[in-house]
Amino acid sequence: MNPQALCWINQQIIPADEASISVYDHGLLYGDGIFEGLRFYQRKVFRLDSHLRRLQQSADAIALQLPMTIEQMKQAIQELITRYDQPDGYLRLVITRGRGTLGIDPQSCPQAECFIIADRLNVIHQPPGQRGIKLWIASTRRLPAQCLNPRIKSLNYLNNILARIEASQAGMDEALLLNTQGFVSEGSVDNIFIVRDGVLLTPPVSDGLLQGITRDSILQLADDCGIENRQTSLTEYDLYQADECFLCGTGAELIRVGQINRHIFTDDRWPVFERIEQAFHDLIARECA
Ligand code: PMP
Repeated sequence: MNPQALCWINQQIIPADEASISVYDHGLLYGDGIFEGLRFYQRKVFRLDSHLRRLQQSADAIALQLPMTIEQMKQAIQELITRYDQPDGYLRLVITRGRGTLGIDPQSCPQAECFIIADRLNVIHQPPGQRGIKLWIASTRRLPAQCLNPRIKSLNYLNNILARIEASQAGMDEALLLNTQGFVSEGSVDNIFIVRDGVLLTPPVSDGLLQGITRDSILQLADDCGIENRQTSLTEYDLYQADECFLCGTGAELIRVGQINRHIFTDDRWPVFERIEQAFHDLIARECA
């Protein structure tokens, strides 16, 4: 355990490994809860309002009453960041259904639980000397919205974890999930973009994926930089025809894909990726100055 990790819980900030919740918490028993992963730079959270808006939407989607107001959450986050011993780091904001009985019914849980962890980042990293990460197209398909909408950032990550296990077993770094129609949805913890003939492409949210805050920022930056971009359904074939391919998420920011299954991207020049990556870092520097 990283000794500097802190946790805000029950109005207090304590070392994260001393924080605990009940074994009767439905977040633990049933994955009944929601979360956000946020990143702070220079003690300022990047796109805090967007994360809290998405948290509220996830809460609404599962009929969960947040135990604190958005303003109180902002205050707790601020206290945590101030106490954390590094200016940059990662936050995990979790809301569980709370303590209930062993039955599944959320009505047995009178009060949702909230805790926020501040810790170092733990992201998929690119091994030194490798051109990009290795992506494995998993046989596990992303859950259709009719079963559990991937737009909800819920504590139920088993679908993503099963895909990641497949990737690890294949000796690859990250998994890519297709939806049940066979279209590309997203990585296990990130969204995907490709570039073809200078055009930036990403699947629409309606293809079953989390509407990533990094993804939204990239689409906005592409518009600002005059890079043609489209949200369009993508197939495996499109991935193999791509000139550039990258993943994005709060933790990883932007990460190059060097290989998909046995297809290797051989081109060294990735002009669109490089422009977007630079613009993204400039955006962080501007917003978290
Ligand atoms: N998809 C999934 C399944 C994720 O877990 C994440 C990480 N939150 C993302 C996409 C990227 O979202 P964001 O840019 O908001 O971190």
